[in-house]
Amino acid sequence: MKCRKCGFESTKVVDSRITDHGNAIRRRRECEKCEYRFTTFERVQASNLMVEKTDGTTEPYDRDKLERGILVACAKRPVSIKKIREKLTELEEEWGKEPVIKSQKIGADIIELLKNIDDIAYIRFASVYRKFRDVETFKKEFENLLNS
Ligand SMILES: [Zn+2]
Repeated sequence: MKCRKCGFESTKVVDSRITDHGNAIRRRRECEKCEYRFTTFERVQASNLMVEKTDGTTEPYDRDKLERGILVACAKRPVSIKKIREKLTELEEEWGKEPVIKSQKIGADIIELLKNIDDIAYIRFASVYRKFRDVETFKKEFENLLNS
């Protein structure tokens, strides 16, 4: 990111924190040339992100849609929505490093995230996202969960 004072091309991040109810990242940046410090609120990358679906077509990344899917999976579970939003913002940072992200990658990352937060939310989300082909696959996954 360019320095706002001298226009130098390179600035370093001195502090980074999730803000706006987990929806944006607030960064303190310092110019590597003139040492001018300024603050940015970033949620830009994710809005330009394209998602490649399993059939090869692409569509714009839709955070609201993804968030709804997660919230449905977390219904009536003791899960902090704020924490989910923060983690989602962190994931978007990661995904936004490439212009196109595969939908499977998004699904896998969310599944991984929920796995660490709540077992039931995890299995709900995984069952929808992976579209388990048959009952057997679902049962196997569920048994793995119970045995883990
Ligand atoms: Zn500067």
